Amino acid sequence: MNSPWRPWIDGKEAGSSTPRALINPATESPCTDVVPAGTAEVEAAVTGAHRAFRGGWRDLAPGKRAGILRAVAAKLREHEEELAKLETMQMGKAIADSRDEAGGAAGVFEYYAGAVTRLYGATIPVSRGGFDYTLRQPMGVVAAIVPWNFPLLIACWKVGPALAAGNAVVLKPASFSPLTAILLGQLASEAGLPDGVLQVLPGPGGSIGDALVGHPLVRKIAFTGSTEVGSHLMELAAKGIKRVSLELGGKSPNIVFADADVDQAAASSPMSVFANTGQDCCARSRIFVERKVFDRFVAGFVAATKALRIGDPLDEATQAGPLVSANQREISEAFLKEARGLGRTVLAGGDRPRPKGFYLNPAVVTGVEPADRIWREEIFGPVVCIRPFDGEDAMLEEVNASPYGLSASLWTNDLKRAIRVSNRIESGVISVNCHNSVHLDAPFGGFKTSGLGRDLGMEALANYTEVKNVYVAP
Ligand code: NAP
Repeated sequence: MNSPWRPWIDGKEAGSSTPRALINPATESPCTDVVPAGTAEVEAAVTGAHRAFRGGWRDLAPGKRAGILRAVAAKLREHEEELAKLETMQMGKAIADSRDEAGGAAGVFEYYAGAVTRLYGATIPVSRGGFDYTLRQPMGVVAAIVPWNFPLLIACWKVGPALAAGNAVVLKPASFSPLTAILLGQLASEAGLPDGVLQVLPGPGGSIGDALVGHPLVRKIAFTGSTEVGSHLMELAAKGIKRVSLELGGKSPNIVFADADVDQAAASSPMSVFANTGQDCCARSRIFVERKVFDRFVAGFVAATKALRIGDPLDEATQAGPLVSANQREISEAFLKEARGLGRTVLAGGDRPRPKGFYLNPAVVTGVEPADRIWREEIFGPVVCIRPFDGEDAMLEEVNASPYGLSASLWTNDLKRAIRVSNRIESGVISVNCHNSVHLDAPFGGFKTSGLGRDLGMEALANYTEVKNVYVAP
């Protein structure tokens, strides 16, 4: 294994700062060292990416670009197990989920390799005659800034379509999870991606982020992370009229109508909020249950929650590992303490199952009120609240009162209701009788403060292209 891990710039290791230890959240012990990038590496990465963009990548025949993306996908598949183990080591994800993530990352490159030759323009019969057509052209250097909860997958959601459209990318992974991003850069080089087309800069967002986003050669910022940082980056980008796409926070509802298969909803809902130990922007952390089936749903949900296997993320049977850090666990515990102080009921979990590692048993809270912070704010940990509702309109008003609008689940066997309610929920992604928010071939992203623009599917290519109109006189 590379140690210390270093920034990947122009096809080689770079950086000379003092290495920082990376902590394994399952053991609380250092697992490897990482050399963080500083402002000198930001300058080298951006200018190198710009050189690579102008010097050939932008103009490469689409078929050749597609071939390189397919080769990157093949490299990722070859290294799936290594990527999965690194992901688990750096952020505590259950190994089965890390394997899914590594496989999904390869799938993203496969999909966008196919998209390269489908970036269609239009021909337009303009009124004055002549020949008018549109082209979708790359923007230049894209800064991709990503979080630690799905580190490799979300990086690929940005890098895949950006490269497919002919851009160069400077990728900044989160400080907790730089390893799989650096390995992605190395594997892409091995697969034949020209030097400089994908640069990887581990390092603290608070110090290198502004330099990266503000760099005059960066034309586009693709960000996934908190709403606060997203809003800050949007302000910075405004100065240079840079393009911005943002995937931000959420407080997603899970709505269960009495006519649904209530037992199935109760059995499957715990993993819609506790998978990845609740550190999921789509976590269904507010559950609305029609009052006449409330007790039955809660009993089934609590039983299924207690049966979850929380433990060593390297154990094949584990369904959820530790949180990423001590701080992330304390945030969840503080929400639970406040709720207990208000007299709310913690029906299960909220305790620490192991003396070492940042573990927390999944917590189920009832008796909450709409004004409670635990009901309104994103927690990003294994905490769920369940409330009864009495009518569709009042429930929808409460659902849509949230400033967030990322995902929502809806359980009903009434087709008309499913369509009506899906239309009225102010969220970018709706799942009916299931909890699947993410399909690599369909758009993913949020309404309101949950984001701007869409990842995945053909829709994501709009984030990475400019439309040019060409008119040829008759
Ligand atoms: P975060 O604190 O916003 O960090 C995200 C990324 O931004 C990290 O790489 C971070 O670097 C960087 N960053 C922090 N401050 C920066 C600055 N001033 N300039 C430039 N970059 C900066 O979020 P997080 O704690 O990693 O992730 C959790 C949040 O992400 C949650 O709100 C969650 O809902 C959201 N999320 C959304 C989606 C979605 O698709 N909608 C998916 C996953 C997560 P450092 O790590 O070095 O601080």
